[in-house]
Amino acid sequence: MLFEVLAETFERLEGTSSRITLTSILASLFKKADPDDIDKVIYFIQGSLWPSWYGEPEIGISEKLLIKSISLATGFSENEVENLYKKLGDLGRVAENLKIRKTQSTALTRFISSSEKKLTVSDVHSTLVKIARMTGEGSRDLKIRTFVGLLQQASPKEAKYIVRFVEGRLRLGVGDATIIEALAVALGGGESSKPVIEKAYNIRADLGEIGRILIREGIEKIKIITPSIGIPVRPMLAERLSDPREILDKVGGKGIAEFKYDGERAQIHKKDDNVIIFSRRLENISHQYPDVIEMSRKYIKAREAIVEGEIVALDPDTGEYRPFQELMHRKRKHDISKIIEEYPVAVRLFDILYVDGVSLVDRPLIERREYLIKYIEQRPEFSIAEYKEISDPDELEKFFLKSLEEGNEGLVIKSLSGIYQAGARGWLWIKYKRDYKSEMIDTVDLVLVGGFYGRGKRGGKIGTALLAAYDPEKDVFRTICKVGSGFSDSDLIELNKRIEQTKISHRHPRVVSEIEPDVWTVPKYVMEVIGAELTLSPLHTCCLDSVRKGVGISIRFPRFIRWRDDKNPEDATTEKELLEMYFKQLKKIETEQTEKTI
Ligand code: ATP
Repeated sequence: MLFEVLAETFERLEGTSSRITLTSILASLFKKADPDDIDKVIYFIQGSLWPSWYGEPEIGISEKLLIKSISLATGFSENEVENLYKKLGDLGRVAENLKIRKTQSTALTRFISSSEKKLTVSDVHSTLVKIARMTGEGSRDLKIRTFVGLLQQASPKEAKYIVRFVEGRLRLGVGDATIIEALAVALGGGESSKPVIEKAYNIRADLGEIGRILIREGIEKIKIITPSIGIPVRPMLAERLSDPREILDKVGGKGIAEFKYDGERAQIHKKDDNVIIFSRRLENISHQYPDVIEMSRKYIKAREAIVEGEIVALDPDTGEYRPFQELMHRKRKHDISKIIEEYPVAVRLFDILYVDGVSLVDRPLIERREYLIKYIEQRPEFSIAEYKEISDPDELEKFFLKSLEEGNEGLVIKSLSGIYQAGARGWLWIKYKRDYKSEMIDTVDLVLVGGFYGRGKRGGKIGTALLAAYDPEKDVFRTICKVGSGFSDSDLIELNKRIEQTKISHRHPRVVSEIEPDVWTVPKYVMEVIGAELTLSPLHTCCLDSVRKGVGISIRFPRFIRWRDDKNPEDATTEKELLEMYFKQLKKIETEQTEKTI
C-alpha cells in the first residue's frame, strides 16, 4: 500500500469524531490493504512501530533533532523552523508547510519529486525500524541522515504524519476497539464477527498479527486461534468478594482455593531453551529475572509451554516471603547477578495455557491443573501455588487465615469447570482479600520468648526470633510474630548470645503460645520492631478472640530495628495497645485501590 493512502486516511480520521464514521473510514482502508503490509498499517494506526511488548527501542528522535531534520530536509534554517513551530504549535504542520514552500520555490524539485518512486507503507515502516535500531557511537548523526532522507522523499502531507508519528503525537482518536470493529466489517464478514476478533486479540495480543491472519486465512482461522509462543495472552482477572459463603455459591458450591501471593504476575513462554516473561501489563520483563528464565528452562518439562504464576520476593536468610516492593530492585539494569543474590525470588504457578501444540484456554481449570502438575517439576523456588479444593465456608476461612499468616494477600477461589477467559474479569476467579489493612506507622517493643534455627548461611545458628507482647492483666506474654529480617551479622551474633543466656528446655509458664520454636527462652530481652501492617492470624495468641473468634493479631513482614535494653519485659508494648493500634490504623482497602506500581 502506498503511504499516501495511509496519510490521506489519517487526514480524514482527523476530521471526524463520530465513532461510526471512524470505523467506516478504517474499514475502507483495510479493504485496500495488502496481506504483506496490513500489520504495519495497523501498527501505524496504533501510533507504534510494533506491539508495545516487543521491547524494542524507541525511534529516539527528540524534538530538537526533528527541528534539525526538517531544516535539513527542506533547506530552511533551524531558526525559521522554530519560528514557524512557535506560530503553528505542531511540528507536523511545520514540516508540511515548509515542504510545500520548497516545492513551490523550485520547479526542478517538483520535477524530481514527481519522477521519484512513491513511498510505500513498508518503506516508511522499515526505515523507521532501522532508525530505532541504530545505537552506539555516531548513531545520532546516522539517525538524522536517514530520517532526512525519508522526509525528502515524502510529500508534504506524508511528511506531516511521519513527523507526528515520530513525535508520538498522531492522536487519531482511534482505539483498539474501533480497529477491531473496522476489521470485522472489512475482512470478517460483518460487525457480528467482532466478538470473535476480540477473543482472538485476547489470546494473541497483537492486532497486526490478527489483521494478517484475517486477510490471509479468513475469519474461520480467527475462530480457532490458539496462543502462540512469544505473543502474550491477555491475563484473566478476578472479581472480588469478602464472604466465604457467597464466594462458594458463586463458583457452584465447590472450588479450588489458592494462596493469593503478593508479587508480580508473570506469564512465562518457553520454546526449547528460549524463555520470555511477560508482566500483567504485557511488558517483556525477562531481563529482570534471569533466574526465573533458568528455572523455567529446567523445570518446565515440555518443549513448548505458556504458564502463569506470581513471582514473589524472598528473604534470602529465612526463605520467607517479602513485600512485593522488594521486586523493584529487579528493575535495575546493572549488576543483575548481584541483585539476584540479594533479592532472590520464587515462582508460584497457577495456570497453564498452552503445551506442545495444544491450546488449553478452553479446557476446564481442573484439567489445566492436571497438565500443570504433569509438566512442572516442582522445586521450593518453582512450584505450583498452594491450593485446596474446598466446599465448606469455615474451611475456606481457615485456609484464608493460613494464607495471611504466611505473608500472602488472601486467596483466589476458582471455579473447577472454568475456562481461561483471556483478557476478561469474571466470576470464574474470585479474589478474597482482607477488607481492611492496618498499616503500621509506629514501631513496637516486643519480648524475645524463643528462636528458630536459620538456613543457608545462618545454618546451625538461630536466625529467627519468636516475639511476644505483654498482657499486664494476666501478667503473661502472648506471641505476635516471628522476626528474621533486619538483622546485621553482628545483630545475629548478639541474638544468639542472648538466646544462649536465657534458653530453657520448655515453654516459660508466663508465655502463651500455640507455636513451638526450636528453642524456648525466659522472657527477658526486649527488641524494637516495625512491620508493614498488623494483620489477623490463626497462629498467634496476641489479642486472641478480640477482633474475631479463634484469631489473633500478627505483624506482617516484621523487621528488627534495635535492642531496647532500657526496657524490662513488662515495659514492652501491651496487648491492649496493639489492639488499639490495629483499629486506629485500619484503612478500607477499596479507598486506596491497590496503587501497585509494578
Ligand atoms: P486485578 O489484577 O484484579 O485488576 P489488582 O491489580 O489489584 O487487580 P489483585 O487484586 O492483586 O490485582 O488480584 C489479581 C492478581 O493477583 C493477579 O493478577 C495475580 O498477579 C495475583 N495472584 C496471586 N496469586 C494468584 C493466584 N493463585 N491466582 C491468580 N492470581 C494470583
